[in-house]
Amino acid sequence: MSAAPWLSVVVPVFNEELNLPVLFGRLYPVLDGLGRPYEVIFTNDGSSDRSFELLKARHAERPDVTRVIDFNANYGQHMAIMAAFERVRGEVVVTLDADLQNPPEEIPKLLTLIDAGHDYVGGYRLHRHDSLFRTLASKVINGVRRRTTNIEMTDQGCMLRAYRRPVIDAIVRSGAINTFIPALAYSFSGNPAEVGVGHAERHAGVSNYSFYKLVRLNFDLITGFSLAPLQVFTMFALCCSVGSLALVVVLAYRRLFLGAEAEGIFTLFGIVFFLLSVAMVGIGLIGEYVGRTYQVVRARQQYHVREVLESRKAPGG
Ligand code: UDP
Ligand code: MG
Repeated sequence: MSAAPWLSVVVPVFNEELNLPVLFGRLYPVLDGLGRPYEVIFTNDGSSDRSFELLKARHAERPDVTRVIDFNANYGQHMAIMAAFERVRGEVVVTLDADLQNPPEEIPKLLTLIDAGHDYVGGYRLHRHDSLFRTLASKVINGVRRRTTNIEMTDQGCMLRAYRRPVIDAIVRSGAINTFIPALAYSFSGNPAEVGVGHAERHAGVSNYSFYKLVRLNFDLITGFSLAPLQVFTMFALCCSVGSLALVVVLAYRRLFLGAEAEGIFTLFGIVFFLLSVAMVGIGLIGEYVGRTYQVVRARQQYHVREVLESRKAPGG
């Protein structure tokens, strides 16, 4: 049995049967080459393909350094990472995507900065290989995040990152759900750094993020770290009220001094519909916060682990 790991590499896996063999072939040699004890924790996030069989086989081949968490259903990338964070044994933790968009060969680059004393090393993608839509959307969200939260990050979407264990422990203790791990980690770090890393196209298959899932994730990012959306909305609502009041004054004046008039009734309809829609957005926004509050208050477990493949029990566990 190898010594307690220094490094834990965390990989969420959802329907990656075509990528896993290549990932194994590239990741393990890099880690073997580090000359420090490590472990790799894969979370099978309810895959419906052969991913779990492949992970099982990998665990059988390299039981000393491979652990597999098997979810009973799909709970999303960030929950998959959280489940692994709860079980890591290393002093340093690296997260990585399974589709080889994050080259495993870049891990030593992150570790150099960890060795230099940083407790958080965020990767940013030097030459991004994603669709134009994804790249543009992420620029917009980056901008919103910069203005609404105090999180400084060049590239929030890059999951190739390294953390010192205290940052991970803080994330686990926070019991965060619906969260955006890189941002949460940043808020707990004391000495963050960033480094440019390579980025490749997905080795095989298509992104698991639909447009809907992306919108949800970004809502998590903004609402999880800031009340700015509510505050901006309140300011906007205030401006609308002032405008409406002015309109009422003008209309009352015309009614009193010019008599009854029906012109402009459709303009009024327009204004009313617009204000109604603004109110509806506001209700939805409040709902986003209330829903998240409800989930935290309910304190139900956020995912269910069906099985954990590991060759030894956690210390004390
Ligand atoms: N993933 C996951 N659960 C999900 C969706 C994705 O564990 O519900 C994993 C996926 O297997 C991959 C990583 O999260 O390792 C990133 O997913 P993907 O490549 O689909 O996202 P993108 O690169 O398009 O942002
Ligand atoms: Mg990907």
